[in-house]
Amino acid sequence: MIPYGRQDISDADIRAVVDVLRSDFLTQGPAVPAFERSIADYCGTQHAVAVNSATSALHIACLALGVGPGDIVWTTPITFVASANCALYCGAQIDFVDIDPRTYNLSAVRLAEKLSQAEATGKLPKAVIPVHLCGQPCDMAGIHALSQRYGFKIIEDASHAIGGKYKSEPIGNCRYSDITVFSFHPVKIITTGEGGMALTNNENLAKRMQLLRSHGITRDAVDMTHAPDGPWYYQQIGLGYNYRMTDIQAALGMSQMQRLDEFVAKRHMLAKRYIELLAALPVVTPWQHSDSYSGFHLYVIRLEPGETSKAQREVFEALRAAGIGVNLHYIPVYRQPYYEQLGFKTGHCPEAEQYYAEAISLPLYTTLTEAQQNQVVTSLREATSI
Ligand SMILES: *Cc1c(COP(=O)(O)O)cnc(C)c1O
Repeated sequence: MIPYGRQDISDADIRAVVDVLRSDFLTQGPAVPAFERSIADYCGTQHAVAVNSATSALHIACLALGVGPGDIVWTTPITFVASANCALYCGAQIDFVDIDPRTYNLSAVRLAEKLSQAEATGKLPKAVIPVHLCGQPCDMAGIHALSQRYGFKIIEDASHAIGGKYKSEPIGNCRYSDITVFSFHPVKIITTGEGGMALTNNENLAKRMQLLRSHGITRDAVDMTHAPDGPWYYQQIGLGYNYRMTDIQAALGMSQMQRLDEFVAKRHMLAKRYIELLAALPVVTPWQHSDSYSGFHLYVIRLEPGETSKAQREVFEALRAAGIGVNLHYIPVYRQPYYEQLGFKTGHCPEAEQYYAEAISLPLYTTLTEAQQNQVVTSLREATSI
């Protein structure tokens, strides 16, 4: 089976991990701050807080921004469930903004409409979580302008997008957001096995997230309620979690960072090749905004409704049967039973539902060979032929 995504691990990556295994610290050692610095420097952001997953990063980002009971958070329905669950962890409510028909990202136009309605009913969101789907950045300038007008916070879920650019600047620099989150799950662009990071230019937010990832405990005397009792002393000054990343993971991440640009360039090369190979097929290839340089975590095509009589499911099943590990990113979050039970109904975001009925993710990863890519396209041609 050709998977839809997979990691790319080199001998240097393996050596970096083995070096940590032979060192004094498997966790809470020097590799974690070194990895944080390397990502912060790469993105041009002041602070980076490494954690054990992007899900944890989203949770502590919401908490650091003060999201809690009585608040509402908005995100896109076309995302992994974690982008929405983080608000529920904090006791807040969640709602969804429909997608842009070209980028499949949270639409700034739909957001503007929904904000003006919410202002009328007094139910403005505390935070909005745009997701850079497939690695293509959202209309961050547009969303940021709305945040100034309506006073909400912004968390970029950039789980798909490290190594990409928005208006020629690195995604993750937080120019248009309070916090940006990356994921290092093995299918993502660089990996630490499991892992995530939250970036911010706000020192207070960084400090809060550092506390939240480790039980709410500080060893810094300036943050304590009184002078330390002695050199052993630490204080728990809030309620936090154990969301720490290990040094084993951080060393792998540091090593992966050295090939980040190469990884994204390879993904672009394969994406470009898909455009050529798919030109004659009844599919829509991913449209790219001129402001964006995608990380290309995913390669999502849409079946053109009028052009093939084969339904999406039939095409999907034929590809899987041919050994092509296609996937579907994503089921609209509010169509999940857990969310339906919260009251969400089919039809809430029509554009997202139309997308869900036509989208298929084709394999895209750095070690995908041209021969494998040809095989994907041949199988797709057969699967879509009338
Ligand atoms: C993968 C992913 C997450 C969760 O990442 P983990 O590191 O697995 O917790 C969150 N949001 C999006 C959009 C993702 O793709």
